[in-house]
Amino acid sequence: MQLYQSNQIKIYNSLTGKKEVFKPINEGHVGMYVCGPTVYSNVHLGNVRTFMSFDMVFRYLKHLGYKVRYVRNITDAGHLENDEDAGEDKITKKARLEQIEPMEVVQRYTVDFHNILNTLNFLPPSIEPTATGHIIEQIELISKIIDNGFAYEVNGSVYFDVHKFNETNEYGKLSKRKLEDLIHNTRALDGQSDKKNPQDFALWKKAEPQHIMRWPSPWSDGFPGWHLECTAMSTKYLGEQFDIHGGGMDLKFPHHECEIAQNEAAKGVSPVNYWMHANMLELNGSRMSKSTGNTVNPNELLSGDNKFFSKAFAPGVIRFFNAQSSYRSVLDLTDDGLLASEKGFNRLMEGIKLLNNIKASGDSAFDVNAWKQKCYDAMNDDFNSPILIAHLFEAVKYINQIKEGKAGVSQEDLEILKTTMHAFVFDVLGLENTSETNSGTDKLSGAVDVLIKLRQEARANKDFALSDKIRDELAEVGIVLKDGKDGTTFSIN
Ligand code: AMP
Ligand code: ZN
Repeated sequence: MQLYQSNQIKIYNSLTGKKEVFKPINEGHVGMYVCGPTVYSNVHLGNVRTFMSFDMVFRYLKHLGYKVRYVRNITDAGHLENDEDAGEDKITKKARLEQIEPMEVVQRYTVDFHNILNTLNFLPPSIEPTATGHIIEQIELISKIIDNGFAYEVNGSVYFDVHKFNETNEYGKLSKRKLEDLIHNTRALDGQSDKKNPQDFALWKKAEPQHIMRWPSPWSDGFPGWHLECTAMSTKYLGEQFDIHGGGMDLKFPHHECEIAQNEAAKGVSPVNYWMHANMLELNGSRMSKSTGNTVNPNELLSGDNKFFSKAFAPGVIRFFNAQSSYRSVLDLTDDGLLASEKGFNRLMEGIKLLNNIKASGDSAFDVNAWKQKCYDAMNDDFNSPILIAHLFEAVKYINQIKEGKAGVSQEDLEILKTTMHAFVFDVLGLENTSETNSGTDKLSGAVDVLIKLRQEARANKDFALSDKIRDELAEVGIVLKDGKDGTTFSIN
């Protein structure tokens, strides 16, 4: 019996605008795709928030016993400036500015992305495909869309025919836009003259002579459109129809709308059963965005080296801060907010430490089973992490009462309390107490203190051979003991 069999999740589906009972296509298995970063600069905390929300979703699904195939791509070509069909490729532009190869840009920022996600205790996705590694699949997809009559070629570029598509399908169903309104609101821009209509979008672009990232195709030496990449990579690994597709709210239109249109045009089916959109992170009241420069990089927050915040914050605090609001709410990053989260995070970690050391005594003064169910109910309700955290603090309160001798706890309930707290805090929320778990120096000094105590005991027992042995062997590995008036201290040479 797996936990998912007794836990019915409801997911807010952006496509229908409703919370719906989650039913995967194949029982016990979940396919989830999340649009990854365009690796032309360092990821900022806004990007990280979206990925962190889906990391939590991934963790909870796994916790319930689902076999999850989580695909998160790397966009390493084809994403043009301002998310449009004209202008320079973001990666090519950066390469030109820095006078390096585009693939050096890709490598540099992919490594940075992975380092940050590791520091923030992310689980790696099951597959992390790159757009440039799937050019053949993208060309096949374009051919299919052309064959089905939904795309046309002009001067070596291929465009999706939105008007033709809308005759038989519904363009705009995800973002709740109507083609007529789009037509009404679009200005005819210069340079779009190749398209039949300004609403059409590029599936393949012919490369200008100076464009370095180019591949041969039946239409021209060129490169794929950004929207097409995600359709090719998601369906290759998850099937023509899969369970969950995620991304930031800003990707709903046009990116995700175009993904739906492409799949319907190529395969005749809508690709995704549950569309999930994470809301935006703001910095002191305005949206964090690369284009406006209103950003903080995770490393700047972790080191304290920035102009916005009074101190450095630990990775666990950043994760805790994020989990304190629903993934569907706007979250404002402020110094006060982070300081409050730091206090909350420390209180929670303190509670877990106490819990590891308390002993069962008497009868329970708290309905542990009902509490455990409330934790699951919170996460089953569209991954409501703030409510989960409120329940975790209820348990911390109880743990403190047990510690102070004001409440009892049975052995059985103590075990449930421990496993449930550990599961939600560490496995699902992905919190870890880095100051305790990662500091090798703290552990080393703890171990040397143990040896100093053993040496004192040896001396008290007049076992000078042993006490000298401890001192000399520590000295051999570079740890020098100094006996003083107030006891023994050590230094590391
Ligand atoms: P990009 O690399 O620009 O394609 O963005 C990567 C991911 O970060 C996308 O899912 C975006 O929706 C998301 N994103 C960008 N800005 C923010 C923000 N301020 N808050 C939350 N997510 C964001
Ligand atoms: Zn995408």
